[in-house]
Amino acid sequence: DIYMDRQNSLGRDYSQKADRERHAAALARTDAETWTSGPIVGGRLLAGTDPRTVTNPYDRHQVLGHVSEATPADLDAAVDAASRAQVAWDRSGGSKRAPVLRAMANALEADLDRLVALLSREAGKTLNDGVAEVREAADFCRYYAMLAERDFGGPQPLTGPVGETNRLVLHGRGVFACISPWNFPLAIFTGQVAAALAAGNAVLAKPAEQTPLIAAEAVRLFHKAGLNPDLLALVPGRGETVGAALVSHPGIDGVAFTGGTDTAAAINRSLAARPGPILPFIAETGGLNAMFVDTTALREQVIDDVIVSAFGSAGQRCSALRILYAPKDSADSLIEGLKGALAAQVLGDPTDPATDIGPVIDAESRQALEAHVERLSKEAKVIARAAMPEGATRGDLFAPTIAEIPTPDFLEREVFGPILHIYRYDPADLANVARRLAARGYGLTLGVHSRIEAFAEEVIARVPAGNVYINRSITGAVVGVQPFGGEGLSGTGPKAGGPNSLIRYAAEKAISNNI
Ligand code: GLU
Repeated sequence: DIYMDRQNSLGRDYSQKADRERHAAALARTDAETWTSGPIVGGRLLAGTDPRTVTNPYDRHQVLGHVSEATPADLDAAVDAASRAQVAWDRSGGSKRAPVLRAMANALEADLDRLVALLSREAGKTLNDGVAEVREAADFCRYYAMLAERDFGGPQPLTGPVGETNRLVLHGRGVFACISPWNFPLAIFTGQVAAALAAGNAVLAKPAEQTPLIAAEAVRLFHKAGLNPDLLALVPGRGETVGAALVSHPGIDGVAFTGGTDTAAAINRSLAARPGPILPFIAETGGLNAMFVDTTALREQVIDDVIVSAFGSAGQRCSALRILYAPKDSADSLIEGLKGALAAQVLGDPTDPATDIGPVIDAESRQALEAHVERLSKEAKVIARAAMPEGATRGDLFAPTIAEIPTPDFLEREVFGPILHIYRYDPADLANVARRLAARGYGLTLGVHSRIEAFAEEVIARVPAGNVYINRSITGAVVGVQPFGGEGLSGTGPKAGGPNSLIRYAAEKAISNNI
């Protein structure tokens, strides 16, 4: 069975001395290196334009390396090389492409400690988040290799009249633009690229402005794993410049994007304004993710799952919990428990194995979160904030916050960071509460904590979501286990890491043969 015989990537255990030592050595090597990123076309790092330094979000005095932006001429050269190489890659079929993706998965795992160290330094990832991210990147490669063999390994037979053979053939669309976010700068970057490649496309990949170094490493690993360098170019830069030029480039045949809902809408408008063919657009965006608890839920389990879901990865997951709906009869007790659990969270240096919560990605993000806390202190009620570590911070640490909101739809839009909002609801009013939340238009993750099946079913029926989690945390979807992605303002589908992931990266040809 192709689904059941798969195995996901294995991790590290930082409670073990050997794993800690391996990490410390990798971190020392990472700090000794000057990392470079910039346009990579045909496997060569080009000069690009607008060079700048990349710094550590936990300590802005630490310079990690340099990046420059792709120029319009770099984009032209990348599109040119990609579209020429794509034809043979597409024709080679899924069974020829799968081994390259599997080699990439192996390369990621072989380099795990180095990649985790860079993820901590460049993106503020804690060690466990870094490990999970490298594993997820490897899982995407292996899973899409399997789908490449399944869907692109040969024609699918169709029925037809006697004497006529009918078959369905899937093939790549051409050159895909893959635009990825800083919050999973390796896993989502690699996942988009692997999906597009598996389906027979070539790729121009634009990493988030904040995380170009790890993206360059991923591209180098793909090339080392045996991918023709012309099939994958890196085109770093700002959204307003490189992103805009990329999605309006006449040589692009499709766009995959993960990031904010507003940016997805802007890309969609720009694609609609292009002359020529109508392009496929795969968008994975934000959420106003909720968890509904009833009075039968197990309090300690709720508290653990809320802390992980709201504050893990510093709340910088699109799947993260934003609003906890607590029944009025147990809300006080839940809030007390959450305050205690928040106080026990360790905020600090993400490379320290003891740290639970690292920095947020940049000063702009930190300031926006502080402004939101300001608003909460006026229009709602701030209940608790985690303690900042001793000593002045030189980076973008933000104290995780719990607030109580006065209305079920107080939040109009996603707030991307470690702020948990709690609304006390009256169970008799559940339908109205759910309706007001649903009216915001998002539909990404949803949690339910209850021992009553009918309660879970009612919540699931009323609140839109692409991923529902009952009696567990609502983050950390695993490739092939929880295919991930939402609806409405949260994205277009198809889900990442699921059996239908490749379909929109491909075109379908039905061939009726009467020879
Ligand atoms: N797949 C991740 C999760 O389940 C979230 C991805 C994202 O934040 O874009 O937590």
